[in-house]
Amino acid sequence: MTNVPSREEIRRALEVVIDPELHRSIVELDMVRSIEVSANGVVDVTVSLTTAGCPIKGHFQTAVSAAVAPLEGVTAVNVYFDVLDDAQRAALQQKLGRGSLPQGTLAQVHNVICVGSGKGGVGKSTLTANLAAALAGEGKRVGVLDADVWGYSIPRMYGLGATRPEVSAQRKIIPLEAHGVKVMSIGFFVEEDAAVVWRGPMLHKALTQFLQDVDWGALDYLLIDLPPGTGDVSMTLAQLLPQARFLIVTTPQATAQKVARRAAQMAEKFSLEIVGVVENMSGFRTPSGEHYAIFGNGGGGELAEELDVPLLGRVPLTMPLREHSDGGAPLVLDEPGDPAAQAIEQLARGVIATSPPELDTLPLYDGDAKQPSAGELPAEARKPAGMSLPMA
Ligand code: ADP
Repeated sequence: MTNVPSREEIRRALEVVIDPELHRSIVELDMVRSIEVSANGVVDVTVSLTTAGCPIKGHFQTAVSAAVAPLEGVTAVNVYFDVLDDAQRAALQQKLGRGSLPQGTLAQVHNVICVGSGKGGVGKSTLTANLAAALAGEGKRVGVLDADVWGYSIPRMYGLGATRPEVSAQRKIIPLEAHGVKVMSIGFFVEEDAAVVWRGPMLHKALTQFLQDVDWGALDYLLIDLPPGTGDVSMTLAQLLPQARFLIVTTPQATAQKVARRAAQMAEKFSLEIVGVVENMSGFRTPSGEHYAIFGNGGGGELAEELDVPLLGRVPLTMPLREHSDGGAPLVLDEPGDPAAQAIEQLARGVIATSPPELDTLPLYDGDAKQPSAGELPAEARKPAGMSLPMA
């Protein structure tokens, strides 16, 4: 029999696995529920999550495997999850001091998916808006955070022109709702078409507020429309949301594929899982049936293959998709028969299929008792908590 590590050695190795929300080791937090080592070197580790919906599972999965696999004699690592029961949660709460458990508005969000592209104009916002509507059409609870701070276009695509979000009794910003989707955008806080100059720290704060001070409630999917490229916003989000997964949008062109690859590399650098690639503007078919590969062929498929992730959709160029985006109504709801709408529906089903199965969500600790609506509150109480959003 080969030498296999003892439970104690494995426990020590797990000390490097940090809970990204609580900022402490899972060993120190008593979140390692069990460690089993079999004679052939297979190690089973069960980690207890603070909330069942906790989308950090992917992070723990990777981090636990990375910590244990290098130990001598280990041939395989399986990571399992369960959820802290009320008593264990209370003990953890005590250990951390009051109020330290993640009670953020994201605690009830099951899947966070960042939609990114290497460059602008490839249809990232159009796909985000339509994918969200398609997921809602599949019965999912969906939110969209427009983090494309330089080119916010989600409000226009959802027909949310001049409406401004209200603030709840708990001083959380209430997202607007359109086409069955909760929506938050920097566009709601600035004058129309105003150019906002973002300095790094201000951007970080605004994004933090969008994630922590917006009352997202229980969501199956929060889609985040990233600005193009691999800059500040992506890095801030990667730090704030280690549980997020990435969906990469590209066109079939080789150049677009090349820049999209950089976005993928950024995601990998932060150990963020890539859900898949979606190719947009994949050709145009005339009413008489002729097909034109306007932006070339195959870029999405090649990128997906290279990244070893699924190609979740190829969305053709269609005039109705552009018209509906400009008109403020997602195409997938209005014209489900359109070829672009059908491709986006397929994308939605692919996204659902690649999402980890859901565990039951534990009740939150922050006593979400029904409170008076914003309208019933004095003006003072309607101000959002935290920093105020920068106005142009
Ligand atoms: P990005 O968010 O990547 O900058 P947008 O979503 O704003 O790109 O799309 C750029 C323009 O291209 C918009 O006018 C949009 O309506 C249009 N567009 C995007 N995808 C398609 C498509 N498949 N067919 C037709 N028009 C599209």
